[in-house]
Amino acid sequence: MKKSLSLLAATASMFASLSVSAQDMSLTRLDCGTPQAPTAVNQRFSDTFAYGDLKVQFVYSCYLIKHGDEYLLWDTGHSMSAPNVAPKVSVVDQLAKLNVKPDQIKYVGISHYHADHTGQIASFPKALLLIGKYEWDAISAPIPAQGVNHAPFESWKKGESKVEPLANDKDVFGDGTVVVLTTPGHTPGHRSLMVKLPQSGTYILSGDAVHFRENYETYGVPWFNYDRAQSLASIDRIKRILANTKGTLVIQHDARDIQRLPAFPASAK
Ligand SMILES: [Zn+2]
Repeated sequence: MKKSLSLLAATASMFASLSVSAQDMSLTRLDCGTPQAPTAVNQRFSDTFAYGDLKVQFVYSCYLIKHGDEYLLWDTGHSMSAPNVAPKVSVVDQLAKLNVKPDQIKYVGISHYHADHTGQIASFPKALLLIGKYEWDAISAPIPAQGVNHAPFESWKKGESKVEPLANDKDVFGDGTVVVLTTPGHTPGHRSLMVKLPQSGTYILSGDAVHFRENYETYGVPWFNYDRAQSLASIDRIKRILANTKGTLVIQHDARDIQRLPAFPASAK
């Protein structure tokens, strides 16, 4: 009897700690680059010339996910020395306003290897890097291809920092609340991030699976994407997940879309 009671107590406290961590979650948008003038998207961002004279206001965003006492940073934006597009305030300084120190970032998830998503990762050498295997292969290649922003990953390439190259999806905290989704096509190992918040519900942070709203709605594929068929399949996957979870898409480069989350320093809970 005594034994079963203590087992019961242990089980109860386990559930209590699980539910505390599940409820203590937030998603905060960070500003990760300075926007330029609106971009005419018809040629570069549609391989079927779908958009006529449409101009889109692109932005650069990255995200902080709090899960109990642990933090995941999703994408790291432009570097502070990027010509014209460098952020006004670094990710580290934005985190400071939230009272989060760089060493508290347990995970850095990277959607893909382009410069506008990887520029400030070197500020987080203590973090475990979560990244698609094909992205990591490209970054760690003896001679990385053009467009692969490998330099900021020096600490991970040398083995001083830790990396987990992902072959598939990754349930980061083991409770289904934060899942790295395999969404290839823009690049070979591209990933998006699904975040299930206790109050606000499910969000998917796009990475560059799509670049803007019209892209998503009409299956637009930029001509510079790595693989057309994969791009279409990834858009389809995101649509089905959002339909099944009644979730919200946040397209990281679309000024209209990122407003679906509160403005910094407020967060969705
Ligand atoms: Zn991008």
